[in-house]
Order: sequence, then structure tokens, then C-alpha cells
Amino acid sequence: MDYPLWTLGKFGVRLVDCFRKTDSIREYPLVDQSQWLSHDELKGRQWQAVQDLIRHAVAKVPYYKRIFGELGLSAEDIQTPADLERLPVLTKEIIRREGKAMMADDFDTWQPRPKATSGSTGVPLKYFIDRRSHSYHWAFIWRAWNQVGFRPGDAWTTLSGGALVPAEVDFKQRTYLWLNGAIHQPSYHLRDEDFARYAKLLRDRPFPLLYAYPSSLRLFAEWLRENSAEIAVSHFFTTSEALPPAWRSEIEVGAGGTVHDIYGNNDGGILSFECDQYDGYHLNMEGVFVEIVNDDGHQVPDGDSGEIVSTNLLNYAMPFIRYAPGDGGSIRRDPCPCGRGLERISNLQGRIRDFIVTGDGRRVHGAFFNHFEPFYNSDWIEAFQVRQTEVGAIRLIMQPKRHPAPIELQAVLSELKLGLGEDMRIEVELLEEIPRTSAGKYRLIVSELD
Ligand SMILES: [Zn+2]
Repeated sequence: MDYPLWTLGKFGVRLVDCFRKTDSIREYPLVDQSQWLSHDELKGRQWQAVQDLIRHAVAKVPYYKRIFGELGLSAEDIQTPADLERLPVLTKEIIRREGKAMMADDFDTWQPRPKATSGSTGVPLKYFIDRRSHSYHWAFIWRAWNQVGFRPGDAWTTLSGGALVPAEVDFKQRTYLWLNGAIHQPSYHLRDEDFARYAKLLRDRPFPLLYAYPSSLRLFAEWLRENSAEIAVSHFFTTSEALPPAWRSEIEVGAGGTVHDIYGNNDGGILSFECDQYDGYHLNMEGVFVEIVNDDGHQVPDGDSGEIVSTNLLNYAMPFIRYAPGDGGSIRRDPCPCGRGLERISNLQGRIRDFIVTGDGRRVHGAFFNHFEPFYNSDWIEAFQVRQTEVGAIRLIMQPKRHPAPIELQAVLSELKLGLGEDMRIEVELLEEIPRTSAGKYRLIVSELD
């Protein structure tokens, strides 16, 4: 597949807004300006939004009506951030269990659409975000990119798959990406010839930025260095995975440019980014309220590490209040020399994904499994894990809800081989429970390759 030679610029992005039923172009200038408000002003607006959301949830969401009733609380009892501790932390398990009770009575008026998390904590969670939340998501991304001069409508390029953009893009998705200005190289299958083609594209055309998974970008940077190839892109934005300092410098040296990392969490409503001070990630305070809590759900002092708990302030169709996406970090509210009033999140933990290596040397991204439909559309798979100890072979550990018929198991394996290649050896193991790490964490991909 060749790369398209031109895009529709801002008109394309307006079309995307129209087809997608979002208002990203309209909201973008607002968040582009509000990041420069004082921290106090942003904090005031943010807390107002928390209280508005809680009033909405208590009035219209069955789960929250019940929880507040059981706790003997009203929305007016939540007056300060410390009061939030009176509410339970919301987990994926609770959301799955409560199902429709998580949805507002006026669900449809918010124009919701289904989403699934790409988190590294098991089978993806299905949930809904509404028109406003979806609109701001893109506005927040553009704001992060704007610091290197990007404006909505500019062509940009990605080296990615899964959570960023789908790997197996069909015509509809390809059109959508193209209208959105994206020139896209899927990163599930990275071979020398793919890198060479992509490097040529990036040498011949000026792009303001490249948006990628750190693990994919690092491989590309390594390829560039080994082949003494140069590209014209000099700003890289990474996301979805942890970015170890060594990787950052490998990318900067190999690809020749600066790296800004983005920590986003779609289900939690977080989209935070590094500014040119590289000292933490500016939080989208206009869209989320973040607490850092200890194991008991209590808030820790600023600067201390703990679990990230987020309240998406924009999603009224299916409100998540005090939601724990499964990541760790700390929060700091001291002013940043860049002048943005947005507080910062730092010491991020829990975003590492691995690659699976096929017999012919392709590296398949962990997100491939996370978005592998037969896994989460089946009615018999509770959870799964992919382990690799040798190149060209994996062990697929599944925790079934019921014992699968041979034909059901075969169907999953055939689909897997379409993505991984016919020669991939797949050994299946059905277990009562997926093994956890010593820290009790569930890992989707466990690679024991060097
Ligand atoms: Zn800053």
C-alpha cells in the first residue's frame, strides 16, 4: 500500500467532526487558551465541574443513586476534594458487574458511542463515551501537538496500531485517518522493507510530527541508525507505553529529534503531555480530576506516589467517578517554568507492553492481542495471557468461563494465525486463573526473549 500524497487539511478534519459527530474543531481553541490560565483559576473551574458531574450522577445514574443512598450521602456532601474519599473507588470489575446501572437515565441525549479499553489489565472493558468527551479527546491531543507548531488539519504521521489507530485498517478507517490528516504505518508487523519505505516517506515529505508507540519508534530509530538513514521529522510524540529514559535517548539519537511523551487513559478521561521542560505531564484539568490514592483508597500528599484515580468530568452518558485505570503515579501542583497552569502528573508506572516475535522476524505489538476481537467477543473467554519463551512460538493461556468446544478453540487459533503467520506455533493452556506477577499484577504479554 502506498502512502497518499495529499490530505484535505482543515476541511478534512471538519468532515471527520461531521461524520464522527464530534465538535473537536470548535472546542480546540478553548483548551488551547485555557492551558495558560493560572492554576488557581483552572482548579476552581475543575472543582465546579466535579460538583456538576456528581449532581448529575446522583440524579440520573442508577449505580450512583444507589451508592449515595447506601452511604447516606447527597451530592451536596461532596464539598472538597477530601470529601471524595467518602466514595468508593470504581474498578473495571464493578463496571462490568453493574452494566446498564452505570448508564445515565438520559443516556441517549448525550450521543454516546461504544469504546473498549486498551489497558494492559485483561480482556478489554466495554464502555461508552459521549459526544462531548469524545470531542475534547482530540482537542486535548492537538493541544499537546501544538507545542511543536501543529495545527488541526496539518498532515501528521503515525507508526502505530491498536489503541492509537487500528492495525488492519479497512477502507472506512483508512478514509477516516486520511481525512484526519494521518499518514499511517501500522506497527504490528515491522520488517526491514516497511521501515525502508516509511523512512523514504519521512525523508521526502515534511511532517510536523510523528505519533507512535515508544517500543515501535525505538525499533525504527534503531533501523535508521544502523542504515545511516535520515528523516525530515524532528518532533516525536510517544504514547500508550512506558518510555524508559534509555529509549528516549535512543530515539532522539537514532531518529534525530525531540521526544514528547503523552500519558493518556481514554477510559479514565486523562490526556496529559510533556512540555519542553520534560518534568512531568501536564494534566487536562478541564476534562479530568485526578487523585493519587494508597491501597485503602485514601488520598496521599502531593508528590507521593500511589494509584491514579480519575474522574472524567465530561462523560455524562456513563460517568466514571474515582475510576482506577490500573496505573501508578504522583501529582504535583507547583508552577511549571513553561507557564501552563495545568498541574502535572509524574512517576508514571504500569505502561509496559511487549512484542511477540514471529518465526520470520516480524515483531507483533502487544496491542494486537488487546484488540483481537475473537478474544473479547467470545462468550467463553474470561481472560487470557500470551507468553513467549522462544522466537516463532507462543503459549496462549486462557481462563475460560466454560469449557470451549474444539471448534471454538480452533476458530480462535485460525484467526490468530492470520495475524501471526501460519508458521507460528501456538500451544494452548486452559487454566482456572491467569498467573499474576509477584506484585499481583496481571500482564497480557509476557515475553521472556532477550
Ligand atoms: Zn510545563
